[in-house]
Amino acid sequence: MQQTQTLELFIEPAQMGSYFTLPFSMPVDVESFTIRYNYERFHLGDTSNGFTPRTEINIIDIGLISPDGRQVGASGSNKTEITLGPTVSTPGFAVVPLTQGTWQIMVGAYKIAPEGVNVTYELDFTPKHLRLLKGDFHTHTLGSDGILTVDELARHAMRHGLDFLAITDHNQFAPAVAFPQIPGITLIPGVEWTHYLGHSNFLGVDRPYARPFPTNTPDEAADRFASARENGALIVINHPFDEDVPFKFDFRTLPFDCIEIWNGPMRESNLRAVGLWHTLLAAGKKIPIVGGSDYHRDNLFQILGGPTTCVYAMSPSREDILVALKAGHAYITFAPGGPTLEYTAGSAMLGDSVHWADVKKMHIAVDGLLVGDKVNLVTRTGSETLFTAPAAGSFAIDRPVTEPGFARIEVHRVFLPGVPPLPALISNPIYFDA
Ligand SMILES: [Zn+2]
Ligand SMILES: [Zn+2]
Repeated sequence: MQQTQTLELFIEPAQMGSYFTLPFSMPVDVESFTIRYNYERFHLGDTSNGFTPRTEINIIDIGLISPDGRQVGASGSNKTEITLGPTVSTPGFAVVPLTQGTWQIMVGAYKIAPEGVNVTYELDFTPKHLRLLKGDFHTHTLGSDGILTVDELARHAMRHGLDFLAITDHNQFAPAVAFPQIPGITLIPGVEWTHYLGHSNFLGVDRPYARPFPTNTPDEAADRFASARENGALIVINHPFDEDVPFKFDFRTLPFDCIEIWNGPMRESNLRAVGLWHTLLAAGKKIPIVGGSDYHRDNLFQILGGPTTCVYAMSPSREDILVALKAGHAYITFAPGGPTLEYTAGSAMLGDSVHWADVKKMHIAVDGLLVGDKVNLVTRTGSETLFTAPAAGSFAIDRPVTEPGFARIEVHRVFLPGVPPLPALISNPIYFDA
């Protein structure tokens, strides 16, 4: 529900020529924020012969400061309405997390009438809510060996039905400040740390490590990972069984958040990555998955959003998308138009942990099935086909939860006649703790 707040301020003539701040409180979980202000800027004189003289008697400047003391933006007296959004802000203002806490309105008393002036600030807060967002966590631009600029790639992604895109050029940082602000698409800063012995995506921060990327010893490599972790990057072990660059470092000795089990088209190397992940799950680990097209340019096998990672996020901000990914609130489909999944157990959704005896059943709903698609429930002990689609359509089922462990969903499809079925969707598990 929209929340509003009004602040009144009286500025004395003696304050003319000075700057000061007016605090306000940003509520928790705000998705976007708009501030409008008004005051008597012009004095209108007596009308004679149809002419109204107008004198500028007050000029009040505005800016915003976030709780960490940073200037979010300033626009003089030019704009009387400013919006800070999750993907786009009013020009002159940054896209920043709308952190709960004390923010400041910067007030500049440039010109004040001899009698002083009343200024009214109206604040609107739009709260976050859970929604499904589709995107690609692994892409390359002209910054390395891709062929599109960030702007071209972003517009390409929107036309493919994607809501977000991580820019992960080889050993090239893609800082958020350099991104175009395009309504409808979230651009996530990142870098693909690209080493002869393995690749890793560091997402969400402008500069995950300060030193140059090359390393010649496992300790030096561990230093880059430690530095990325310290700087708040989300760390992905990329394409562990890639035909050209498998991940040869011992990932058990490195800090990481996710495994890229699906890189580009589904094939042997990805199936092996799914197998590795499944083994880790069966050993009791809780590791979220991520997919990415590794898009460089269109070819027969590579499309943007192939695969697409679908996240249940509280807002389209880059922070909330990464929070959702790290929490495992995600599943991967082969393309932006692939099948969709809703999977819950009580109040838990995919990626969550619940005590197994506290939930009676899991609820699984898959849409966008084609004839012959199989919906599989995969647990530690194996895979069970819940349903084979007799025609295109959707499928929903409640299943009892009878033991601890984990349960995840896969949809398998025959993409080409004569070729064995391949995953069209793979979800994170719900973990049923003992
Ligand atoms: Zn790579
Ligand atoms: Zn790549």
